[in-house]
Amino acid sequence: MIHFPKTLDEAAGLSGSVRAGGTDLQERRHLGLDTASLVELRDVPGMDGIELDETHLHVGAGFTVHGLSADQRVIDGFPGLAAAAGGLATPQIRHRATVGGCILQEVRCWYYRHPDLVCLKKGGATCLARQGDHHFHSCFQLGPCVAPHPSTLALALLAYDAQCELDDGTLLDMPTLLGDGTDPRRTHALPSGRLLKAVHVPLGEVGERAAYGRAISRARAEWPLVEVIARLWVDERKGTVTAARVAMGGVANRPLDLPAVAEALVGQEPTDEVLAAAAAKAADGAEPLPGTAYKVGLIPGAVRDILTRARDANLDQQPADDGSGAATPHGLPRPPGGG
Ligand SMILES: Cc1cc2nc3c(=O)[nH]c(=O)nc-3n(C[C@H](O)[C@H](O)[C@H](O)COP(=O)(O)OP(=O)(O)OC[C@H]3O[C@@H](n4cnc5c(N)ncnc54)[C@H](O)[C@@H]3O)c2cc1C
Repeated sequence: MIHFPKTLDEAAGLSGSVRAGGTDLQERRHLGLDTASLVELRDVPGMDGIELDETHLHVGAGFTVHGLSADQRVIDGFPGLAAAAGGLATPQIRHRATVGGCILQEVRCWYYRHPDLVCLKKGGATCLARQGDHHFHSCFQLGPCVAPHPSTLALALLAYDAQCELDDGTLLDMPTLLGDGTDPRRTHALPSGRLLKAVHVPLGEVGERAAYGRAISRARAEWPLVEVIARLWVDERKGTVTAARVAMGGVANRPLDLPAVAEALVGQEPTDEVLAAAAAKAADGAEPLPGTAYKVGLIPGAVRDILTRARDANLDQQPADDGSGAATPHGLPRPPGGG
């Protein structure tokens, strides 16, 4: 049965599987992994917009991933987010997929997706990948399920300190929405019966240089082995890094914030050597499986590459800061507290 709710409240009151773009859910239904009634969001108004105000970028959960990557306000003010949105999946998927669906999609583990196998995530007794073929899986251990978190947008929104608004008005930050990875049955921690309504991304400080990139095993239409987003701010007069934010995906069952990498950059001149030394810290704490040890070797190079691209990002496209402290990348007044 398919429900076509006309309001978000009506949608939230229905039981069943929520369908947005359907690019993940439909595949799981074809495999027999999801057999619940469908709650189709297509007729629910107000979920597919994007707005920028003095403090935040507001993105409806139904806004497309392509739209996010192509919006000039996102490209200018949230360059790492735009690059991540434009760098995931394929053009066809990005045009269909929604921001909400991308954040809340299920893992791509072949044991989980196999219709006849019952892994830990499906209520079984063990993580089949742990003892089996886990070539594309985690090299950090946050919990018993070793499927890497699938969402590139979750990674990027973590690095941008986004808040997620649910249908009942609750605001969750990304670490809370994603959960800590210890419950193998949950790929995220959206409370049962709740819907994701919108994502709110705070405006950053002026002068952000950002990059997103991934190590992959083939050129197109592939999930990343390792993916990295970096945001840097450099004091042009002193030539030193004043702030940094670095996060990594594809290596754990949740995207990982990398504060030690960021701390190793702050106060330093971002030379190749400094970036490489900071990037080397990204693999600290890794506990690879036999088949994922190669990822630990990939991490420092992938992080160094993205840090280098962020450092060298073209600043010409950003409006000049007049030194008053009032400007943001959007030409809007800076919000109180710099937020
Ligand atoms: C070849 C290929 C490569 C890919 N590579 C990548 C990649 O590199 N990075 C990446 O991130 N993704 C990748 N993907 C996955 C793709 O991005 C997702 O399938 C897509 O983003 C899901 O969005 P959707 O709107 O179609 O979600 P749907 O399939 O409609 O939904 C996905 C899940 O989210 C839930 N959901 C959706 N919206 C809401 C809401 N508003 N409230 C509550 N629950 C909701 C649904 O119930 C469902 O469980 C790839 C896919 C393919 C086919």
